[in-house]
Amino acid sequence: LEQISKVYQMGDVEVQAIANVSLSIQAGEYCAIMGPSGSGKSTAMNIIGCLDRPSKGQYYLDGTDVAQLPKKELSAIRNQKLGFVFQQFHLLAQLTALENVMLPMVYAGIKGRERRDKAAEALKQVGLENRMQNKPNQLSGGQQQRVAIARAIVNRPVVLLADEPTGALDTKTTEEVMDIFTQLNQDGMTVVMVTHEPDVARLTNRIIWFRDGQVVQSHLTLDEFQPSHHHA
Ligand code: ATP
Ligand code: MG
Repeated sequence: LEQISKVYQMGDVEVQAIANVSLSIQAGEYCAIMGPSGSGKSTAMNIIGCLDRPSKGQYYLDGTDVAQLPKKELSAIRNQKLGFVFQQFHLLAQLTALENVMLPMVYAGIKGRERRDKAAEALKQVGLENRMQNKPNQLSGGQQQRVAIARAIVNRPVVLLADEPTGALDTKTTEEVMDIFTQLNQDGMTVVMVTHEPDVARLTNRIIWFRDGQVVQSHLTLDEFQPSHHHA
């Protein structure tokens, strides 16, 4: 991201969610984004994930500036290059785990048999090979989030993004889900996640701190971060 800003228009009022954020994430990194509520973390994630466009600035994804692409091209790039996991799983209740994971490939135009094989493989990767025919309400929260992760990685994205992926999970389930993110990163995937939980952030290799719509520190582990310096 180079000098990225996002202004939301709410009637007559403009809300500046992030301002002149510059940030570089390398292939293969494992990053956490932290910072107070309202500091712009989700806004930045939505831009990185091509769910939203910045008001100004450049965003080079895999070498191409995608900041001002038309919506249709942006969503094509999202389907090809990005995987997104949300706090509330966002699975479709009427579909099985397998069908949920097959969905992104329906949009990508991949044919039936290949779709099924790839979805099964992704579910195996998150340890759910025995739960493929279950619907979300037959799965625990942690299992549902693992289905969502399988869905996010099934098209082999360049970056896996997760906005508070353990925010709705208890401690044990959080560990289960974090093991999967860590394993995916060790297998080479770039992973970026927003979290409020120090124990989650500690598992990543780099923490990017937001405050008041700006990046205040980066390249720091949790133990090195001294919030008092910023209030001084
Ligand atoms: P949290 O930790 O609570 O999830 P956050 O760091 O993710 O917070 P954002 O959701 O990025 O924060 O919000 C940043 C600012 O932008 C806030 O002031 C918020 O109210 C505002 N904002 C976010 N989305 C919108 C929107 N769609 N319309 C108007 N304002 C918005
Ligand atoms: Mg948020």
